[in-house]
Amino acid sequence: MLNIDLHCHSNVSDGVLSPADVVARAAANGVDALALTDHDDVAGIAAARAAADAAGMTLIPGVEISVSWGGQTVHIVGVGIEPAHPGLAAGLHGIRLGRIERAQRMAADLARSGIHGAYDGAFGYAANKQMVGRTHFARWLVAQGHAPDMRTTFKRYLTRGNPGYVEHEWTSLENAVGWIRASGGMAVIAHPGRYAFNARELHLLLDAFRALGGVGIEVISGSHHPSEYGKFADLARAFGLKASRGADFHAPDEGSDIGCLPALPHYCQPVWQGWPELTTHLSLSMA
Ligand code: AMP
Ligand code: MN
Ligand code: MN
Ligand code: MN
Repeated sequence: MLNIDLHCHSNVSDGVLSPADVVARAAANGVDALALTDHDDVAGIAAARAAADAAGMTLIPGVEISVSWGGQTVHIVGVGIEPAHPGLAAGLHGIRLGRIERAQRMAADLARSGIHGAYDGAFGYAANKQMVGRTHFARWLVAQGHAPDMRTTFKRYLTRGNPGYVEHEWTSLENAVGWIRASGGMAVIAHPGRYAFNARELHLLLDAFRALGGVGIEVISGSHHPSEYGKFADLARAFGLKASRGADFHAPDEGSDIGCLPALPHYCQPVWQGWPELTTHLSLSMA
């Protein structure tokens, strides 16, 4: 059984390890194929691929695109994309510009609550000055002593109704799925258990996603409680979607580690079924 993890972050977005160190960690954890899926940026893929080649591991180029749908933020993972595709690159560049403008509004909102210097503070935690997000603000808030840990920080700040949260219009579902498909990738709905949709809204999302050419949904995710795995495996089957598995790794001391979650339920159809990149592993393990 191959260990495949199709969702993780490097310091090109809001992870803490460099792309090469993410790959090294995955290899040490026994991962056979890894998708690097930084938020709204593909700048880490070249270094990740070089490290994967050296380690004899398969690197799947990926991205996690921020989308506004149904009044909420939804994340769409693209796997098997071509990072240099002009349409994808331009779309992601636009989202990153929006993030910088949003960071200014977040910092201004925190300042109104008496917390000053958050803009420069957050950028101090962003290795890639093009890609700033709530995690960078959260790490700075923890370091400043405003909350004891990341979990509490997101509870007190940066979430709807709390200081530092601002509404933001991301790109459309249609754009995100369109860019992923145009660049040769497969679109996968990230961590469906994280959204505050009711069942009807979630079904509408899955229908809309399928109609646009989306193909998969994360079933085994570091953002899911184990009690949710069966529910999303059933949803995948009911909606004719393939299933994915990914830790959503960000940092060694935050959340799930790469390649350490359970395998997909046996009745799921994996998104990676038939991928040519995996045939060398298969022939090696069958030899
Ligand atoms: P952004 O895309 O800038 O809105 O930031 C979203 C990121 O914040 C997610 O990808 C997670 O890495 C992180 N995040 C969101 N909610 C939480 C939470 N409750 N605890 C820890 N990290 C979180
Ligand atoms: Mn993140
Ligand atoms: Mn996400
Ligand atoms: Mn993620």
